[in-house]
Amino acid sequence: MSVTKNDTAVLKNFINGEWVNSNSNQTLDVPNPATNELLTKVPVSSQEDVNLAVAAAKEAFKKWKNVPVPKRARILFKYHYLLTENHEALAKLIVEENGKAYKEAFGEVQRGIECVEFASGAPTLMMGETLSGIAEDIDSEMFRYPLGVVGGITPFNFPMMVPLWMFPLAVACGNTFVLKPSERTPILANRLAELFTEAGAPNGVLNVVHGAHDVVNGLLEHKDIAAISFVGSQVVAKYVYQRAAAEGKRVQALSGAKNHHIVMPDADMDKAVQHVLSSTFGSAGQRCMACSAVVVVGDNEPFVEALKKKADELIIGNGMDDEVLLTPVIRREHRERALSYIEKGVEEGADLIRDGRREMDDLPEGNFLGPTIFDHVTPEMTIAKDEIFAPVLSLLRANNLDEGLEFIRKSRYGNGATIYTNNAKAVRQFREEADAGMLGINVGVPATMAFFPFSGWKDSFYGDLHVNGKDGLNFYTRKKMITSRFDA
Ligand code: NAD
Repeated sequence: MSVTKNDTAVLKNFINGEWVNSNSNQTLDVPNPATNELLTKVPVSSQEDVNLAVAAAKEAFKKWKNVPVPKRARILFKYHYLLTENHEALAKLIVEENGKAYKEAFGEVQRGIECVEFASGAPTLMMGETLSGIAEDIDSEMFRYPLGVVGGITPFNFPMMVPLWMFPLAVACGNTFVLKPSERTPILANRLAELFTEAGAPNGVLNVVHGAHDVVNGLLEHKDIAAISFVGSQVVAKYVYQRAAAEGKRVQALSGAKNHHIVMPDADMDKAVQHVLSSTFGSAGQRCMACSAVVVVGDNEPFVEALKKKADELIIGNGMDDEVLLTPVIRREHRERALSYIEKGVEEGADLIRDGRREMDDLPEGNFLGPTIFDHVTPEMTIAKDEIFAPVLSLLRANNLDEGLEFIRKSRYGNGATIYTNNAKAVRQFREEADAGMLGINVGVPATMAFFPFSGWKDSFYGDLHVNGKDGLNFYTRKKMITSRFDA
């Protein structure tokens, strides 16, 4: 087991530069999803722990906000170096606690590092604007300032990338941060904090409080928290958004998804099959940009047959094995939830053309579920509407692109959507009309990079300013306008 050096039987919180025990005696097990062997235990921290972390962050803010921006950026440069140096070890930690394949985990670390790269540009990003001569002898200037203490609440599926969507940019802008990682994948957060300290981050600039909803509520209610960044499931995202906004905080809440991929009759079928497979079954379907519904346009039986055949060939197993694509889901209960959706799909009349339940017993110690595909799913069925977040795919049939786009419009979610085609007219219509915020043209996972906003629509996002890119910068800064008269 390669948990970080400060981990003993129970993970510690990181407050004001110190590794400290939670005030609570309550803990949760953190097992490896591929084996269910215990990795460590995570404390279910209390309001008291939150108060200590927020107080440390508030105190640290007094100095950190005045550290010159290039000096803050230099710490991020060093952090970038340390993360890169530890790239493989970090990826292995992700595989251990999350279960995803090593290649995916390696890619996740890369995506996280890119966020630090982006935040290292703080001196340019933080620049204001000026206009000389808004009236006679009068000029206007805009300066950017940090908000104060920011709270970040993150999900299990990207234990590295999602925290790095948040705190590097927030602290580069001069804020201090309290991170509440997922209690199901908490180990990596401690390693991130350790390396950030090694990079030179002063005490209290980044704090980590482990736990569950009590810590979340503690952050949402705390009068000294200025803003909340949240990523997680839809019900919790909406709750966090409403609660934080009611407390007068700035909030961005990234939520669930149901991403549709439209396969046009003219698409390169081999490539479409390959992209759909890895988007649907990679990370066991536990990506907010995973394909979970394919719209097959026209009478395209060869595509459906090829998809089924390739799904049969997928290698299922532990993410540390090189050839494996389909890895376990995060917990047994999560698999139970997916199984109930499979039963619901059958009950509602969808055609179960590949039943992944048959592979469940091949690796009994882990939380495995084989690739599962339903055909002839209609938009009204529960499996078409809900986010299942597991290796379960719905195929919907459409006569033309207009019908396919209508399915996307009907979905409550709008994180991503993809089209497979070589037809320019179809591409343009898709780009203009698809009702989702991140589109792919022949791309299986059209997730944006750190310098663009992660731009979900509809119930996939609550708030105004997304994470990353200029949206992230605007979220973590407030503007001050100066108007000056020069007539004397
Ligand atoms: P989750 O909602 O269960 O947990 C997310 C965070 O909220 C965790 O830190 C958890 O402790 C906390 N939480 C959970 N229940 C709570 C409650 N009742 N009250 C207060 N806090 C609570 O999400 P998850 O299962 O860890 O992550 C998967 C979800 O995240 C999926 O829905 C996925 O689509 C979504 N996600 C979205 C994006 C995006 O960019 N839109 C990115 C990654 C993940």
